[in-house]
Amino acid sequence: MEPKIGAHVSISGGFVKVLDREEKLGGNCGQVFVHSPRVWSFGDLTDEEAEEFRKEYKNRGWGPILVHSNYLINLATPKPDLFKKSVETLKEELKRAGKLDMEYVVFHPGSHTGSGVEKGIQSIVQGLNMVKDTIPEDTKLLLENTAGKGTSLGKDAEQLEKMIEQSELTFEETGICLDTCHAFSAGYNIHNKEGLNKFIDDFDSRVGWENVKAIHLNDSKHPQGSEKDEHEHIGEGEIGEKGMKQIVNHPKIKEKPLVLETPVDKEKGYKENIEEVKKLLDR
Ligand code: ZN
Ligand code: MN
Ligand code: MN
Repeated sequence: MEPKIGAHVSISGGFVKVLDREEKLGGNCGQVFVHSPRVWSFGDLTDEEAEEFRKEYKNRGWGPILVHSNYLINLATPKPDLFKKSVETLKEELKRAGKLDMEYVVFHPGSHTGSGVEKGIQSIVQGLNMVKDTIPEDTKLLLENTAGKGTSLGKDAEQLEKMIEQSELTFEETGICLDTCHAFSAGYNIHNKEGLNKFIDDFDSRVGWENVKAIHLNDSKHPQGSEKDEHEHIGEGEIGEKGMKQIVNHPKIKEKPLVLETPVDKEKGYKENIEEVKKLLDR
C-alpha cells in the first residue's frame, strides 16, 4: 500500500482549494483548521460550499483529512466560562467536520492550570461526555499526545487512556493522534529502535494500536524530555535523520496517515519536507 503523507494546509479561498493545495505539495492526506485557530468565532460554511467540497474530495479518492481543533480550547480548565466556550467550540468544529465529510477532529486535551492532574482529567472527561452526541457518524474525535509543557495533560499513553476510559466515549467515536515531536519532548526516546518499539507497545497495551488513527510527523527543535513543543524540519532536529528514518519505516507507523506540521520558512516548506519523508522511506 502506498504510504499516506500530507501536511497541514490553509483553507483560505474556500475548502475546495485545500485539495489542489495538498496535491501540489505531493500530499495524499492532510489537515486543516476549520476556522482561525486563535479566535473563537467561525466564518460561514454554506451548504453549497460544503457540498462542492464533499463531491470533489470524493472524486480525488485520497485522504483522510484531519481537522485540527482551535488552540484556545481547553477542556481541562477549572474556569467555568472557558470550559463552556471550549465545549461549544469543539461541538461546532465536530459539526463542520461532519458537514465536510472529514474523517477526524484532533484536539489537545488541555491544561489544568493549577487545579491538578486528577481534576484536570475529570474536567476533560466531562467535556468529552458533553460533546459525545455531536460527534458525526463518520468522524472520530482524536486526542493528541502533548509535550507535557507546564500543566498540559496527555503527555503519555497512561493519561490518554484514563481520559477515554473514564468517559462515555467508545473507540467507535474516539481515538488517538500521535505527534512524534510531542512524544520525544515528553520523554519517549523514539529516535532509537528500542525506544520506538517501547513507545508503540505502550500505546498498544493501553489504547490499542488500531485506535491510533494518525501520526503528526514532526522533528523536534529541543532534546528528548525537554517538554518543549517546537517542531523542526524532518531530519534536522533532535530526532534527526536516522531517528526519522527508523520512525517512518516502522511497519506500525508506516500504515498510518503521516501528517506534517513542520515549519515553513525561507529554506523549506511542506513540499521539501514531504519529499524528505519519501526519500527516507525504504522502497
Ligand atoms: Zn496538535
Ligand atoms: Mn501535532
Ligand atoms: Mn506541537
